[in-house]
Amino acid sequence: CGIVGYIGPNRATDFLLEGLRRLEYRGYDSAGVVTFEDGGSLAVTKTTGRIERLASALQVTPHEGNIGIGHTRWATHGPATDSNAHPHLGGDRVLALVHNGVIENYQVLRQKLSERGYTFRSDTDTEAVAHLVAFELEQLLAAQAEGELPDIDDPHRILVEAVRAATSQLRGTYGLAIVFRDWPDVMIASRLGSPLVIGVGDGEHFLASDGSPLAGHTDRIVYLADYEIAVLTAGAIRVLGRDSALVVHSVEALEIDA
Ligand code: GLU
Repeated sequence: CGIVGYIGPNRATDFLLEGLRRLEYRGYDSAGVVTFEDGGSLAVTKTTGRIERLASALQVTPHEGNIGIGHTRWATHGPATDSNAHPHLGGDRVLALVHNGVIENYQVLRQKLSERGYTFRSDTDTEAVAHLVAFELEQLLAAQAEGELPDIDDPHRILVEAVRAATSQLRGTYGLAIVFRDWPDVMIASRLGSPLVIGVGDGEHFLASDGSPLAGHTDRIVYLADYEIAVLTAGAIRVLGRDSALVVHSVEALEIDA
């Protein structure tokens, strides 16, 4: 029931674990993280139970990557098991995604994606979203290879379009954070009905379900609105509205009673 993300010069799991602990009060039954490791592969670690179990697992197999996302799950679809814990991989490990909320039409999506050859490894509604974003991205990449997409000098545009195409098919609620194997310098976030905030640092950015994980890291916060898609790199934030036009986002002062 919580999301955290980090992109910057430091080891991502340091912020992710600490952030997940601060989001514990929201309730959860399992937790997980994904980072880029070994020159670009997506490494996932997830466990049921307390955050300390995740911390122990990460002591055994540390993640050194500088970009990552983390999740605490409050199961709605499928029991609290390791395989149902987030992150979930989409396509052939082309992306990893965490989700808070409930996707009402996941069965229809799951059916369609299974027919298209996507393999499901969990009982969650979330995995349908992971494969759906991967599918839409593959469609766009194919169109681009055919010269059917306008030439835009923005390497992340295609990711925004894939997330937009996928989320427009969802019924329900979502807070999403996604990393893409072949775009190891960026993290995408989007929401409808589930909260997400961005912490603005110097040469680093944070993502969280609320402001509590940000305290001590930054006091500048951007509240993401429903239907917005945020593109985060270490050095920049862009927020795109429902029509994919750039939104002027206001940076507010984080107020936390520590
Ligand atoms: N519906 C998703 C699941 O059951 C996400 C639950 C949550 O918000 O933690 O896996």
